[in-house]
Amino acid sequence: MEKTLEILDLEAQIALLKRRINREVSARKKAETYLEKKALELFKANEKLKAYNRNLEEQVEQSSKALDTNEKKYKTIIENMSLGLLEVGAEHKIVKAYDAFCRMTGYEEQELIGKSARQLFLPEEYWSVIDSQQATRDQGMPGVYEVEMFKKGGDRIWVMISGVPIYSDAGEVTGSMGIHYDITPSKNLQRDLEQAKLLAEAAQRAEKQFLANMSHEIRTPLNAIIGMTHLLFDTKLSDEQSDYLNVLNSSANILQGLISDILDFSKIESGNFEIQSRAFNLHELLDSVYKTFILKLTEKPVELIKKIDAEVTPFLKGDDLLLNQILFNLLGNAVKFTKKGKIEIEVKKLGQSEDMQTLEFCIHDTGIGISEEDQKQIFYNYRQAKNDTRIRYGGTGLGLAITKQLVNLQGGVIWLESRLGEGSKFYFKIVYELASQDVKVAQQTSAEAQDLCMDEYQILVVEDNAMNRKYINTLLKKWNYSFDIVFDGKQALEKTRTKHYDIILMDLQMPVMNGYDATTAIRQGKSVNAETPIVALTASAVLQDKNRAFDLGMTDFLAKPFTPKQLKSLFLKYLSNSTPQKTTEMKDRPKMDLDYLAELYFDDKEYALEMFELFLDYGVKEVEKLSVAFEAKDWPTVKQLAHKLKPSLSMVGFPSITLILEQLEKAAYNAEEEKVKTYYAHFQEKYQAILPVVKQKFQELQSSEGDLFAK
Ligand code: ADP
Repeated sequence: MEKTLEILDLEAQIALLKRRINREVSARKKAETYLEKKALELFKANEKLKAYNRNLEEQVEQSSKALDTNEKKYKTIIENMSLGLLEVGAEHKIVKAYDAFCRMTGYEEQELIGKSARQLFLPEEYWSVIDSQQATRDQGMPGVYEVEMFKKGGDRIWVMISGVPIYSDAGEVTGSMGIHYDITPSKNLQRDLEQAKLLAEAAQRAEKQFLANMSHEIRTPLNAIIGMTHLLFDTKLSDEQSDYLNVLNSSANILQGLISDILDFSKIESGNFEIQSRAFNLHELLDSVYKTFILKLTEKPVELIKKIDAEVTPFLKGDDLLLNQILFNLLGNAVKFTKKGKIEIEVKKLGQSEDMQTLEFCIHDTGIGISEEDQKQIFYNYRQAKNDTRIRYGGTGLGLAITKQLVNLQGGVIWLESRLGEGSKFYFKIVYELASQDVKVAQQTSAEAQDLCMDEYQILVVEDNAMNRKYINTLLKKWNYSFDIVFDGKQALEKTRTKHYDIILMDLQMPVMNGYDATTAIRQGKSVNAETPIVALTASAVLQDKNRAFDLGMTDFLAKPFTPKQLKSLFLKYLSNSTPQKTTEMKDRPKMDLDYLAELYFDDKEYALEMFELFLDYGVKEVEKLSVAFEAKDWPTVKQLAHKLKPSLSMVGFPSITLILEQLEKAAYNAEEEKVKTYYAHFQEKYQAILPVVKQKFQELQSSEGDLFAK
């Protein structure tokens, strides 16, 4: 029983235990299931993580690949761009040298690391550059500069360096990166170009010098030729001699024109052309141009017509000399290329503002005309319409090129209308400032217009050229001037030391001492001539010479070749207002042809007196009648009187005036009003100057004995 109880108890305990075990088993199972579930979740999470990871890795891989590709790309670009990269740290120590830099300089990278870039690569003359660049970099700023660099082996190359600062993580500048670009080829090119430019400039200077010299060489003898021709015209000439002299004169003038063309051209080309602005009277300018050209047309059946729009205001401000030259060039061509018909100068007003006036000039001729194709090129240098133009008409082909430039230099334009065989119309348009009407228009002093007694003035001529000395000597003697002539600057200095002169004409290029040095010495010393006007006589028309002459204290400039009239105008300009008080009795008068008279009258005083009296009586009256007829536009009477007066004027010693009378006679016969006016004015001008000389001679004849017409 007891046992049974014990068993029962045990069994109960076992059952309890079993329950407990079962509970635990079930709890464990639950725990296991839970754990399994969690493990599964963990596994899944892990898998996800792995997948993420893989994804991430892939992305990183792709990015780094892309980065790689980019780096390669830029590296290739940089390498191919020949940009040599060099990284330097403190004190220019090289930290890294990239391939292209190594190739550029011929070094291996390991040869460079740790070395001072400044010392290794830079010639000393660039150290200051690099130091100032370094200072900029230290302040965190980039910079671009050019220096020369040594390559391994010592050769130099030119590099352009773009430098940028490099920063540490803490944001401090630790060094810099220099991107080097080899600019040696372009530097070489630049050097070559500079050398070429210097050479070209030297060549241009040489050319200008050559032109100046040539012009001097040519102008000096030409001066003598033209001068002597003028003197010859005043002597008694047979018809044959007169013909030859006319040819000589016109050839010399053509030659002078050619030289002027070439000089003008070279002056314009070298930018040495001065544009002046002064008041002038357009009517007077056109009148004088007209008169010049009408004289050139006496041999041809070509009428010259001048038409000025009534609205044109003649008081202008601008460069009258250039306008004159343009008109001369265009009219010169018109005369050259027109055999018959007419040449018309027309001026129109295109517009006007308060102080400006736009004028259009047209030179219209009925000459050979210019084909459309040739019109395109004739304004270019050395271009002529046809190849045979030079042979048939002469010329350089520069005239129109110069004319165009002269118009353009004044802000104007030039163009033409023409048809082959039907004549040409050259137009140009220039805007002029208006000048006030009461402005006294500066006029060239006309030697004939003024009667001045010059014999008390003292003139010094400094000239080495024998021909020119002779020419000036003859002129001054003829005009009764008091003068000394010396050969060079040194002699001029000696003369001017003791004697006061009223004017000095000074050649520039002379042996022993040139005109520049002589002028400097005269101006510097306490010489009595320190204030005397010194006029440079030179064959060079190059502006620099002019400027130099003025800088040294010269007063004016007379370019050779000069005509007697130009020389006299110069004296009038400087002497007419200066000191010596003159009486007007000993006037500078037109030269009477004494040789002619001596031959005509020999020693027949009676005859001479009779002829002089006749002239002063009847001749003078004939001239009065001539003016009445002229005023009345009675051309037949003008013609008749002009004809009658010819011998009368020759008989009193002025045979040269018959030329003008002949032209007057011809113009009156053809009833060419403009021409009649021109020749009549010309005649009157001469006649007024001649009359007192004839009167004086008549008085001398009445009282003189013996040699009637001795010089
Ligand atoms: P050139 O010194 O030869 O006259 P230009 O430059 O003055 O040089 O003229 C160039 C060319 O233009 C002349 O050679 C001629 O063929 C042509 N030409 C100029 N003006 C005229 C004109 N009025 N009539 C016909 N042809 C002209």
